[in-house]
Amino acid sequence: MTETCAGTLVVHATPDSECTEPHCPECQELSHSLVIPCADVDGDCPLCAAELSENAAA
Ligand SMILES: [Zn+2]
Ligand SMILES: [Zn+2]
Repeated sequence: MTETCAGTLVVHATPDSECTEPHCPECQELSHSLVIPCADVDGDCPLCAAELSENAAA
């Protein structure tokens, strides 16, 4: 059974995602009503900056 989380899921340009709830049952987009890109939280995300520079280099 899939639990629904009340937190906000923050997704990155990488396959990574994280939730604002420390005890998130399942960090998947489907179990969250609120999903936002990390750029909306922190415009200077080191995780995505690395991903983007990797793509630019390739
Ligand atoms: Zn990010
Ligand atoms: Zn969650």
